[in-house]
Amino acid sequence: MLPEIKGLNEECGIFGVFGHQDAAQLTYYGLHSLQHRGQEGTGIVVSDGKKLTGVKGEGLVSEIFTAEAMKDLEGSAAIGHVRYATAGGGGYENVQPLLFHSQTGSLALAHNGNLVNANSLKYQLESQGSIFQTSSDTEVLAHLIRRSGYPHLKDQVKNALSMLKGAYAYLIMTETELMVALDPHGLRPLSLGCLGDAYVVASETCAFDVIGVEYIRDIMPGELLIINENGLTSERFAISTTKAICTMEYIYFSRPDSNIQGINVHTARKNMGKQLAVEAPFEADVVTGVPDSSISAAIGYAEATGIPYEMGLIKNKYVGRTFIQPSQSLREQGVKMKLSAVRGVVEGKRVVMVDDSIVRGTTSRRIVNLLKEAGATEVHVVISSPPIKNPCFYGIDTSTKEELIASDKSVEQIRELIGADSLTFISVEGMMKALGQEGTNGYCLGCFTGNYPTEIYPDTLQYYYQK
Ligand code: SF4
Repeated sequence: MLPEIKGLNEECGIFGVFGHQDAAQLTYYGLHSLQHRGQEGTGIVVSDGKKLTGVKGEGLVSEIFTAEAMKDLEGSAAIGHVRYATAGGGGYENVQPLLFHSQTGSLALAHNGNLVNANSLKYQLESQGSIFQTSSDTEVLAHLIRRSGYPHLKDQVKNALSMLKGAYAYLIMTETELMVALDPHGLRPLSLGCLGDAYVVASETCAFDVIGVEYIRDIMPGELLIINENGLTSERFAISTTKAICTMEYIYFSRPDSNIQGINVHTARKNMGKQLAVEAPFEADVVTGVPDSSISAAIGYAEATGIPYEMGLIKNKYVGRTFIQPSQSLREQGVKMKLSAVRGVVEGKRVVMVDDSIVRGTTSRRIVNLLKEAGATEVHVVISSPPIKNPCFYGIDTSTKEELIASDKSVEQIRELIGADSLTFISVEGMMKALGQEGTNGYCLGCFTGNYPTEIYPDTLQYYYQK
């Protein structure tokens, strides 16, 4: 039987610095800006040029990196990670960066994404004698690097990366070097910047702004950056690359103040709202967005239709995201804790409610209910993503197929289940138009269309399509 990989569903953020005396502190601030990408665990590993030292734990950045903990993190290079894991994929041992020591030196790894051939590789490696410390697929890379027959680390890393399939943005740090790698499809965002003479890498550019980093460029699919005392060099580890960045990064995951491939996330969302106004024009009294990720799209819808945007829903900011609660009962409880409808805004009004996605339908049903309980006479739901019909294999928790409401229900059936007066999803063409694209080239649309940019391995499929 194949070994079980429990940490398949994860969405994470990574941050790295090379060549700055305050590397750990900068990483702390960077991770804080990336906190929305994962709230279950975080870690920083720092290099002082001779050894790697790490601090990690389960919790938020501000909880784990106390002033006391930061005292141990001295050095001019650092990598950090914020992690989200579904039930079964958590635990202290899976919190990254992972740190490995051997006779030839130490290695720290931070990974954002998900490998689709991790099970097969792990099975092969175990049958050859490898013993894994974690249930995370990230550890596979360390074993492949270690087993590579090449004499130099750079070639070991390139060889190991060439065996991986799926989505990965990796930071790999030794005592003297920082390596940065992005998968041949560039599925997850990863940007390079500089702060004086120091180089900085982050999952999102919002992490640059907080510490005054100057953006240089996005990392290219199949690129390996090597940063050391001699500066920065760029190499390719993949012969063929086809860009397919995740569209959900624009719709839901990334922060509105981040830019991905030159496109500002807030602007992209606003354009999606404007496009929805063309695809689903309603006569209504107010437009409201589900905070926080749908506000930009709601502003766009309001601007295009002339219907006033109002704050019809208020979020309690101190409760975690509903999307990432591990069980149905917690999810249901989470919605009640998280959102309130503003009676003074919606009572007696026809409301257009803009949301970014419908995953299981539970959240949408509760929000429609909240608005109706607060006196809305009509609730028209418009969604700034196409229906999510298929699971994501690349590190975003869209759950198993059986849990996705759109996998086997029509739009009308979903409308009825969530209790809305109407329901409209943006079209794929409309979404691409909002991103300034004529076709779908360069973007992953797997969870909407079922066309994935990589081969999906049978053992991975089995995990996601379990009944
Ligand atoms: S399948 Fe969907 S969520 Fe996953 S990478 Fe592709 S677009 Fe993003």
